[in-house]
Amino acid sequence: NDEVFLAMSKALNFIDPDEISATVVLTALNRFLQEKNGSKMAFLDGAPPERLCQPVVDYVENLGGEVHLDSPLREIKLNEDGSVAAFHIGGVKGKDSFDLTADAYVSALPVDPFKLLLPEPWKQMEVFQKLDGLRGVPVINLHLWFDRKLTDIDHLLFSRSPLLSVYADMSITCKEYEDPDKSMLELVFAPAKDWIGRPDEEIIEATMGELNKLFPTHFGGDNPATLRKYKVVKTPLSVYKTTPGCQQLRPDQTTPIKNFFLAGDYTMQRYLASMEGAVLSGKLCAGAVSQS
Ligand SMILES: Cc1cc2nc3c(=O)[nH]c(=O)nc-3n(C[C@H](O)[C@H](O)[C@H](O)COP(=O)(O)OP(=O)(O)OC[C@H]3O[C@@H](n4cnc5c(N)ncnc54)[C@H](O)[C@@H]3O)c2cc1C
Repeated sequence: NDEVFLAMSKALNFIDPDEISATVVLTALNRFLQEKNGSKMAFLDGAPPERLCQPVVDYVENLGGEVHLDSPLREIKLNEDGSVAAFHIGGVKGKDSFDLTADAYVSALPVDPFKLLLPEPWKQMEVFQKLDGLRGVPVINLHLWFDRKLTDIDHLLFSRSPLLSVYADMSITCKEYEDPDKSMLELVFAPAKDWIGRPDEEIIEATMGELNKLFPTHFGGDNPATLRKYKVVKTPLSVYKTTPGCQQLRPDQTTPIKNFFLAGDYTMQRYLASMEGAVLSGKLCAGAVSQS
């Protein structure tokens, strides 16, 4: 619990090994060992909105689909038999709110906001009651710009520092941040439960203390590396916290409601709480909709 499992549990779920379900660590190890590319790491070559979301939008639109931004789901309206009558979409940024009707309805919301929108009659159903046991874990993401190069490693790094988790020098790993002279570190700060409410300055100070230990040659001596600028991104409820027993609480993509389906990394699929897991849940959900 102080070497590999510490690094793994913090990277996989932003919590320490004494809290995480062994299922998560064993599942990840199993994938690494059994799948040819299971342990492959890759980076987007730019920011997610342009390099991840826009290509998905283009793909959907090229196939005749539509993507509506700034259109949050505010209420799931029901028919008398408990099936979905409409999704009520909120009006933000000057837009009008409206009711969206469809043959099949999918929620791909994270589990915490979805629970807040559960219609009253559904709350008694076992599948939705179980969601009470799934709750997002707090995590902090840090972006740090330095005045010099701290490392030449072109890879994701796993830390077993008590405060830091995975990190990478984006000036090397990511084309958009490429800089031959200065490092730009992106770090996951975890476990974050005792830090999420603290001011950014305190979080940065604690992080710099940890970096001092990771890069002693750069931060010690007469001419220590300096931080040029930083950004602290706090996510109080991120991926669901995978504590022992929570695997049984995860819902399937189909629900007892005939025209309502679920997608998202917290729904049951084999890739844990990850981007791959979210994508796979979407594929399983699409399959369930087309079979219904
Ligand atoms: C700091 C951090 C680092 C991570 N690093 C990695 C990593 O390196 N690799 C990896 O595979 N995974 C990583 N993850 C996990 C990964 O981000 C998640 O597993 C993945 O994003 C889950 O996808 P999702 O579609 O289920 O949910 P989300 O990505 O959370 O998408 C849900 C969407 O629903 C929207 N939404 C919420 N409420 C409403 C509403 N009322 N109406 C309409 N829309 C709504 C949200 O805005 C959001 O866009 C990381 C997560 C965090 C927080």
